[in-house]
Amino acid sequence: MARILTGIQSSGKPHLGNILGAMKPAIDLSNDDKNDSFFFIADLHSLTTIKDPKVRIENTNAVAAAWLAFGFDTAKNTFYRQSRVPEVCELNWYLNCFAPYPMLANAHSFKDKSDRLADVNAGLFVYPVLMACDILLYDANIVPVGKDQRQHLEMTRDIANSFNHQYGDVFVLPDAQINEEVMTIPGIDGQKMSKSYGNTIDIFQTDKALRKNIMKIVSDSTPLEDPKDPANDITFSLFELLADDDQIAEMKSNYLGGNYGYGHAKQALYELIISKYSKERETYNHYIENPALLEEQLLIGEEKARKVAREVLDRVKSVLGFA
Ligand code: ATP
Ligand code: MG
Repeated sequence: MARILTGIQSSGKPHLGNILGAMKPAIDLSNDDKNDSFFFIADLHSLTTIKDPKVRIENTNAVAAAWLAFGFDTAKNTFYRQSRVPEVCELNWYLNCFAPYPMLANAHSFKDKSDRLADVNAGLFVYPVLMACDILLYDANIVPVGKDQRQHLEMTRDIANSFNHQYGDVFVLPDAQINEEVMTIPGIDGQKMSKSYGNTIDIFQTDKALRKNIMKIVSDSTPLEDPKDPANDITFSLFELLADDDQIAEMKSNYLGGNYGYGHAKQALYELIISKYSKERETYNHYIENPALLEEQLLIGEEKARKVAREVLDRVKSVLGFA
């Protein structure tokens, strides 16, 4: 039995990058009877950027509803909010004391975020340690993540290894599972799609808002009549990720043939999302409109998660002399 663990921050509404890069592959793994999955909403992480509790709770519910909309089985698995297992904060302190400063100073995500954000707080700096705790606290074996998280997973292994080296086999060493095919989903501006870049596609929006969102995808100024290069277009890249082979071939010939504008391609992408995800959009809205149903599912998971967390934390405290 392998334990699969993955989390999504409640730093904004879940987006296509989260869904294709993390949620879908994780849910596929969770459907394998040989696996036991722990999926959580990283609401403590999102405090680094989201200070308004109302907004954070709204985002947390949105991420939870997205997991359920894509079919995560909460009866078989463990589904929880990170903040409801406060053991993770205690472990965070212990592991802060084992995380070398130069390693944290080298984190790409910190460099990137500290360049862009006005509020560069210590939470942002120690984010990889809290992430290591998210994983190590549950004895996770496999962590399905997008490519952007590769370095954080390596740090988790480094911290666990150096701890185990001193105290014996306390932590299970996790492996990242990165779907190289999916890679990094581009946002509407061509950078990595990220909640914190404001460049996301939220597939759960109303039809009208979704269409407006998609029409904002950046494209070049090739005139309508001229052929267009599908390999260098964001709309095409996104279409390619969602469409079947025939649809992709048709779209490619539209691009190369000319007299097909980017507006047409965006409309086709919009229609594809609406039809492909109609069931998921309906389930998502059902949970958003009935937050008590969400709460019910989360509370069951939180109880289960806490039980595992206490056991692992006890192991740590015992070797550190804090038991
Ligand atoms: P933030 O901007 O706050 O960091 P985010 O949009 O990057 O948010 P995270 O919560 O950091 O989302 O990431 C959750 C999961 O989604 C991770 O496994 C991450 O690798 C994956 N992910 C995020 N963005 C993308 C993307 N553009 N393409 C593929 N996977 C992604
Ligand atoms: Mg991120």
